[in-house]
Amino acid sequence: MKELVIISGKGGTGKTSITASFAALANRAVFADCDVDAADLHLILNPEIRERHDFYSGHEAVIRKADCTGCGLCADLCRFDAVKSSGDKFKIELPSCEGCGVCVSFCPAKAIDFPDRLCGEWFVSNTRFGTIVHARLGIGAENSGKLVSTVRQQARQFATAGQADWLLTDGPPGTGCPVIASITGADAVLAVTEPTLSGQHDLLRVIELTRHFKIPVFVCVNKWDINPAMTATIEAAATSSGATVLTRIPYDISITEAQINGQSVVEHNNGIASQFMQTLWEKLCQLLH
Ligand code: SF4
Ligand code: SF4
Repeated sequence: MKELVIISGKGGTGKTSITASFAALANRAVFADCDVDAADLHLILNPEIRERHDFYSGHEAVIRKADCTGCGLCADLCRFDAVKSSGDKFKIELPSCEGCGVCVSFCPAKAIDFPDRLCGEWFVSNTRFGTIVHARLGIGAENSGKLVSTVRQQARQFATAGQADWLLTDGPPGTGCPVIASITGADAVLAVTEPTLSGQHDLLRVIELTRHFKIPVFVCVNKWDINPAMTATIEAAATSSGATVLTRIPYDISITEAQINGQSVVEHNNGIASQFMQTLWEKLCQLLH
């Protein structure tokens, strides 16, 4: 089984449209949507949830009012201003609590519980192309890196158990902790970018990251024809940084039409973008299998 992670330096480059087309083209594949902060692969793959799991990360402090003496020490010690007075007692405002545990350790009455914090959910679902593992991070919840690791680990288990040929992962944008969690140990990364100055900047950061983890990185410039000169500059910079440029995809309104219809581009039609995505997939198959 080969794991390919599709990432981009920022959102909106067409990364998810390309992942969805690969999902339609791949045989015996399992999918992982690791863009847990703004997941949208499900809009195209239309998953039917078959398993739902809570995701816990860190802790939250909760005062047992009956045991609180109202001494106020927790409010004095909390650096995050999460403890507020409530009549003659105190209460903790959970969104502000960072789960550091200081109040729990120092409460003279031992009146503060410290349960695991519910931060979101992850799901195992059926799609018309195969199993997908995806997730939803709770509002204001942090540590999406840990949730990304959970999604990938579960997807890998399904892929291994089902003897899949591919694990295709839609990675999060950027170069932070969630991206690192989505690429470490993968067989290859496909970095999707657009021909803009910020696209070049983001792509070079992504390439640097993949080189650090010694993961082969392939590059695809989407909507290349909106700025051919910038496309050439980006491709040259990517090649000098050690990446392999695989293809360019031209601007094609059918990418948007496919999204509106809840389809991958290759299902929607056999237009120019569809053909280039098919070529891109064939190249990746040749390079990775
Ligand atoms: S430190 Fe403990 S006893 Fe004192 S106010 Fe806080 S919860 Fe109540
Ligand atoms: S666990 Fe830390 S952040 Fe949360 S209320 Fe206690 S001291 Fe404040």
